[in-house]
Amino acid sequence: MNDFRRDPAEVLAELAALREGDAPTHGGRVLSYVYDSGLAELDELSAAAARLVQPVNGLDPTTFTSVAAMEAGVVGFARRVFHGEGDGSDAASDSAEVVVGTVTSGGTESCLLAVKTARDVWRAARVGTPRMPRIVAPITVHAAFHKAAEYFGLVLDLVPVDPATGTLAASAIEDRLGDDVALVVVSAPSYPFASLDPVADVAAVCRARGIALHVDACIGGFALGFWPDELPAWDFRVPGVTSLSADLHKYGYAPKGVSVLLTRGRDRQRHQYFRTTGWPGYPVVNPTMTGSKPAGPLAAAWSITEVLGEAGFAELSAKAARATTTLREVVEGIEGLRVVGVPVGPLFAVATDESVAPGLRVDPHHWADAARGSGWLLQLQPGLTQADGTRLPHTTHLTITPVTEHVVEDLSAALVAAADAVRGVPQVDGQLVLAGLAEALPGGVEPLIAAAGELDSDTAAGLLGAIGLLGGEGGGLPAQMAPVLALVEALPSELTGRLLVELLARVVEPRG
Ligand SMILES: *Cc1c(COP(=O)(O)O)cnc(C)c1O
Repeated sequence: MNDFRRDPAEVLAELAALREGDAPTHGGRVLSYVYDSGLAELDELSAAAARLVQPVNGLDPTTFTSVAAMEAGVVGFARRVFHGEGDGSDAASDSAEVVVGTVTSGGTESCLLAVKTARDVWRAARVGTPRMPRIVAPITVHAAFHKAAEYFGLVLDLVPVDPATGTLAASAIEDRLGDDVALVVVSAPSYPFASLDPVADVAAVCRARGIALHVDACIGGFALGFWPDELPAWDFRVPGVTSLSADLHKYGYAPKGVSVLLTRGRDRQRHQYFRTTGWPGYPVVNPTMTGSKPAGPLAAAWSITEVLGEAGFAELSAKAARATTTLREVVEGIEGLRVVGVPVGPLFAVATDESVAPGLRVDPHHWADAARGSGWLLQLQPGLTQADGTRLPHTTHLTITPVTEHVVEDLSAALVAAADAVRGVPQVDGQLVLAGLAEALPGGVEPLIAAAGELDSDTAAGLLGAIGLLGGEGGGLPAQMAPVLALVEALPSELTGRLLVELLARVVEPRG
């Protein structure tokens, strides 16, 4: 017996107790973050597969050949689903047209790598160009592209969408194109409103100008690929789509840590690789951001694609589609709420129906808080002013998974009851919350707004305490999130950003 400090069983028991405090990952109670197939066998399969490769280092697929085999399997599956296999003709196997891919650690890494690749392709064609290239995308594009622009030194040029529906006009993208555009990004569908961007129209103008086009199908890809309704082509069927990302840890039902990035053209994709022989150690040559990496999420994803196959995925997509249809009808039937735009796939956003009298309106954030009171976690999304001055409404987001079908009646009843409980209660006035905050602070809120990004961590923590987000009993989120979101909207984004950095940094700081 080793001389351990603690009994492993006791440590695991402690972990199990900690897990009790988590939001439920199964059963459809949390309508974001987690993607429950409803099939316990798939979770068992994932765990067993991950266990088998636990000691493997995914860094080197030539040493750990199982990694190469699984990655080829997952990329091959994704390429079939997203119509990147071609027609078997010589043209289709041409190096410039063939679709190749990489398994990454998640959607963000797939998006980061798509941007890095496009930037390097753009640079290679413009030796000596000093300008910072642009990414052009609708404002609904995932925040991962904000991160990519920041990390890799590109300007993110965000194009407004229709504020009522969240949909993008292809002409609005076309108007922004120029020689300094390294990449255009569209979504299939977008996270905030589930809008399916006009991929074919955008692709046509990008292709005509030789500009790369990424389709971000991180959330929806593996659901839309098997969606029961007829959809316009949004994947590699569309000429001009140069890359596509899709997360296996979303509608691929794998545990977190696995996504796929597909790229049209071998030479284009080679720009994704980092390589150096300029140090005295082993040559470092790899297509992803990490060095040593786990093979577990890849093994889980590979096993799931093998076990389910296309038919299994189609069955799960059909379940999610049926539940989504039911829930959209329920929400449309609730007086005072509306579904935003024309959502495609297993997600949608809900806003206030402004066409009814104020006393009958339902605020989506109060609605989400009321639903949370009965154990259903919906996701609050703040309103946002676009570059053209129009305002996107504040909304509540629902992501529907296959398991939702099993609880759809309870959920529907909870959504109706939550609306009844808050109908007529106006949206929290952010300016009022701000005024209350200013009174509670010795120097008022103005100096903090002026300092914004430069706020030191103690001042930021003090402000968070005054808002009630830090230093309270037991940690975790307050029961009512609507006032917090109202404050997020009312404060300048620089200050909000700084405060959220402080919050996230403090929750992981070791105590005492
Ligand atoms: C989830 C998501 C991402 C980022 O994925 P992570 O896996 O969370 O890193 C990118 N784009 C869209 C549309 C998403 O929904």
